[in-house]
Amino acid sequence: MKRNKETLLYGTKLLFPALLLPGLLLAGCGTGGVGAQDSPQANPPAADGQTVKPAQPDTSAGEKEADTDQSAPNTVGEGKAGADDSSKDADDNKQGAETADPVLAERAASSLQTTAKKVNGVAVVTNATAQTVIVNKQRSLPKGYEPSDLVVPDVPFSFDGPHEKRHMRKKAAGALKQLFAAAKQDGIKLRAVSGYRSYARQKTIYNNNVKTKGLEYASKVSAVPGMSEHQTGLAIDVSSPSVGNALEQSFGSSKEGKWLAKHAPEYGFVIRYPKGKQDITGYIYEPWHIRYIGIDLAKDAASKQLTLEEYFDEVNIKL
Ligand SMILES: [Zn+2]
Repeated sequence: MKRNKETLLYGTKLLFPALLLPGLLLAGCGTGGVGAQDSPQANPPAADGQTVKPAQPDTSAGEKEADTDQSAPNTVGEGKAGADDSSKDADDNKQGAETADPVLAERAASSLQTTAKKVNGVAVVTNATAQTVIVNKQRSLPKGYEPSDLVVPDVPFSFDGPHEKRHMRKKAAGALKQLFAAAKQDGIKLRAVSGYRSYARQKTIYNNNVKTKGLEYASKVSAVPGMSEHQTGLAIDVSSPSVGNALEQSFGSSKEGKWLAKHAPEYGFVIRYPKGKQDITGYIYEPWHIRYIGIDLAKDAASKQLTLEEYFDEVNIKL
């Protein structure tokens, strides 16, 4: 829709300020209220950039060889600690250890710029099944996408009875079990609140809101189906009895919320919508929403204090 057509696709930090109205920065998970939706998407996906093109922002000096020293001060610098965990100083030294370091290689392979294609004006991710897939207000899952390996994690939930939202993809579910076990050992009580959310369920929620409250309101409080991270099966909302298992920002300042923020990366999860990053992620601070991306990447992203949009942006990868 608006101007930055090309850049929209990539979800870089440059896009959001221009695109997001303050009123759209609502909770991404829904905290009960209007049906616990995910993305307060105001409009159909705005992303309509081209697929595999170099990033457009002026911070990018080009494609893979962009000199990003200044644009990404928080990321790993050439040859600095963390850039070469594998210490396999490979064949390719031109831009640091991008091919030698498995973490950098995975980041690059999962970059925003190379993992979406435009379909009918919408940026649709091409790596829906990857555990590094990035879905947001600019990037949709393929229509009707459903993970094939959903299971129920063996953790305590905040509700009884079977429900779709009990599920996660298998690997994420196993990691969640370990995370919860570690919490318990530290005397921390966590509860799983809401995991997988199907396209169909999101669609029902969205359409229902449109019907009862009008398009404008529905657009603000509910996600366009396909753009909820919960649909990947890799995200889950977590809370604690200490805050009534609520999905509220107060959870972030509880001892359980603090424990979660500190230890989640050790089990492969990141706090997906950190405080003060709504101009990048499109969502307000959600201390309860964790996303599985694997231990190595989660630790790396957390240590750099980057959102996943930044972490998988080529501007920040090629260092
Ligand atoms: Zn959530």
